[in-house]
Amino acid sequence: MAREELLDLGLKQAHLPALLMALVHVTGDASILDEFPRPVYDFFAEGRLGGYSEAQQAAIRARAKEAIETYLMNGQKLPPPPSAATVRKMMNFIAGADIPEHYVPFMEEELGLTGEDVKHPHWESEKLSAARKTLRVVVIGAGMSGILSAIRLKQAGIAFDVIEKNPDVGGTWFENTYPGCRVDNPNHMYSFSFEPNHDWPYHYSTQDVLLGYFQRTADKYGLRKNIRFETQVLETRFDEKTSKWHVKTKDKNGKEETLIADAVISAVGQLNQPKMPDIKGVGSFKGPAFHSAQWQHDVNLKGKRVNVIGTGASAFQFVPEIAPDVKEMKVFQRTPPWLGPTPDYHDKVGEGKKWLLEHVPMYDKWYRFWLFWMLTDGIYEFVKTDPTWNGPPNAVSPNNALLREMLTAAIKPQTDDAPWLFDKIIPDYPFGGKRSLRDNGKWVEALKRPNVELVTEPIAEINASGVKTKDGKQYDSDVLIYGTGFHASNFLRTFKVYGRGGVELHDKWNGDARAYLGMTVPGFPNFFMIYGPNTNIVVNGSIIFFSECSVRYIMGCLRLLAETGNATLEPKENVHDSFNVKVDEANKMMAWGAPQVTSWYKNAKGRVSQNWPFPLVDYWSATLRPNPSDFELKKSA
Ligand code: NAP
Repeated sequence: MAREELLDLGLKQAHLPALLMALVHVTGDASILDEFPRPVYDFFAEGRLGGYSEAQQAAIRARAKEAIETYLMNGQKLPPPPSAATVRKMMNFIAGADIPEHYVPFMEEELGLTGEDVKHPHWESEKLSAARKTLRVVVIGAGMSGILSAIRLKQAGIAFDVIEKNPDVGGTWFENTYPGCRVDNPNHMYSFSFEPNHDWPYHYSTQDVLLGYFQRTADKYGLRKNIRFETQVLETRFDEKTSKWHVKTKDKNGKEETLIADAVISAVGQLNQPKMPDIKGVGSFKGPAFHSAQWQHDVNLKGKRVNVIGTGASAFQFVPEIAPDVKEMKVFQRTPPWLGPTPDYHDKVGEGKKWLLEHVPMYDKWYRFWLFWMLTDGIYEFVKTDPTWNGPPNAVSPNNALLREMLTAAIKPQTDDAPWLFDKIIPDYPFGGKRSLRDNGKWVEALKRPNVELVTEPIAEINASGVKTKDGKQYDSDVLIYGTGFHASNFLRTFKVYGRGGVELHDKWNGDARAYLGMTVPGFPNFFMIYGPNTNIVVNGSIIFFSECSVRYIMGCLRLLAETGNATLEPKENVHDSFNVKVDEANKMMAWGAPQVTSWYKNAKGRVSQNWPFPLVDYWSATLRPNPSDFELKKSA
């Protein structure tokens, strides 16, 4: 397509508020911010048009066309960048609201107008250059967080090995290959801040695309030679005499090896150990049976009778995908998920929009900023418990009840032609109790199919021929699929971690994992976790953002050691404990911590061990750099 055509198409497909921001950069004229009103966003719509009238849309497009053409004709020269005050005004403008003061540095960093990768570690000073030569780190896992750790270690010039159980990088995006698997965070935000991709084919891309992105990133940074694939970590043990970690591994041929490291970073994720349900008879089904994260692609589902257990994020994606192929399908639901309207969930990114992202200065930055802000803490207030709330337990506050009403009204029309479904798919727990799913109508459409039945009667047992429910009804099938989630609260389930005094981390946790900022634990010097306890998010942000914050902090810890000449650091007991008290208090005040809610966010002891209960900005500021007084620093053991 010719450039003019792509520009015209781009203007049609543009996110207009981001386009307005780009115009300020291209023209150097910020008066446009006074000419157009701030956009108004509708939670239930795409947000692309900013609530502008047709006349306003046409005016914005005409202005943009003229300005972009001039910029392209004049050798793509940009006027001086807008002042800090103007950028601030622009942030408020595109957000459609005044961004609170304490969010500003955080949001400025996310916006990244300078193009500088601010989290890039710099170990160029004489002291650090000398220190990095002797440091060695082992990273466990080559998924998104492991790749990120490796990139930062490499940038700092620190020697490292990555141990990966799979034959390739990608972690969750390597393992989950079930039909329909895709990201449920907007892709232009679900990517490393320093590795933007203007070529995402979908707003929410499919698993193969995500895997490709992480594979390409690993290749670009030349990480593969540092990764030992098809190798498992059996245990990691701290040697108090030498202050080193001994990481015992086993490769695919059964060969064991011990790597010696100054620090260990666990990047094994929270959601990678498939969980079979605790239902009587599990394992007794005689036909093919598998978990969504271990999809058996050689099992042909065409014309088969299929039973599916679970209606969480994974089943929500594969059920609509396989429904047209199977002869019949029973979907066994214990608890319905909340559905959040997302009209563009399966939509492709238009070629014109891709062109804008690639060619119009700063359009990509502002678009990402907008996505980020909208997912920052927008719904956070709606999932906080109001202690004075005396309404029904299906909400935790007046705001939460209001959201329930709005979402219910949005779901209702989907069941107008299938009224029996309505009561079954409206959750009786508060919104935010569990992860809500992105609804573009495909889920309910699948449940309404004549060959699909949503079974809400509790399951009594799984047997050789199918599933029996408590009312005595038997549902025979040819295939059984478990969409039953992961051993999420059993952190680092696949290996042992022995700290000071030979104490094993899981023994210390005793089924109730805790850490300081999700990363460090007293008695386990220089042992760090990414996506550790209490760093999962429910309604705000992206997990890549959390990983980027965590890795910056971990690099800061290594730097602290190097700068102070210490061998080890570990959090002080009281710092760790008081942090966890605050986390627990805050989690109790969130919808997911409400006593009437059961979910994988709570461990067997009923404590929310998964989720970060505070606004995102708090994690960002807490992880900017380690506070030396939080740690016991030791020269040697
Ligand atoms: P999940 O959310 O834990 O869902 C498991 C499902 O199985 C739930 O419906 C659960 O019911 C049901 N279940 C479990 N044990 C059961 C039993 N004994 N009897 C009956 N039903 C039972 O697991 P998931 O769907 O794999 O998703 C896990 C997480 O992975 C998500 O929350 C999300 O963070 C992530 N994920 C993300 C994406 C994405 O980004 N696209 C896709 C998939 C997964 P209850 O609700 O009643 O427990």
